[in-house]
Amino acid sequence: MKCPFCKRGKTEVTNTRTTKGGASIWRRRTCLSCKKVFSTYETPSLDFLIIKKKSGKHTRYAPHKIFASIFEACAGGKGADGRTRDRGDAAAEAQELLKQIEQKILASRKTILSTKELIVLIGDELESTDRAAYYRYGAFSEYKQETLGL
Ligand SMILES: [Zn+2]
Repeated sequence: MKCPFCKRGKTEVTNTRTTKGGASIWRRRTCLSCKKVFSTYETPSLDFLIIKKKSGKHTRYAPHKIFASIFEACAGGKGADGRTRDRGDAAAEAQELLKQIEQKILASRKTILSTKELIVLIGDELESTDRAAYYRYGAFSEYKQETLGL
């Protein structure tokens, strides 16, 4: 891996740890050229996962869409100007929730999920961590399945 600062140097792993729950591997790296230190996270990819839409069509799992919908719920929904209100920590919260959801999908060993199953998973995760975001998310409405754009 190239150094993100000088873009040249080879890097050396100076520390490795499994994150809480074993969801990913954290590595501390040091650039051999500029000596700057940075971290990388290694997490399993869900690129094998297929989402079965309500229409019966299959589509690839798109984590950025899930992230966007969770972020909106965590941030407090859209304001009058149509822009998502950011509470400040919403991005970090949404990122963490997405990680937990992906862990559950991996643990289930499923390779196909229906949109409904996916929304239930997201809803469960939101309900147990951020009740206000859970209500904003509206996980169990039919409308949600369409707006998620899956
Ligand atoms: Zn460097």
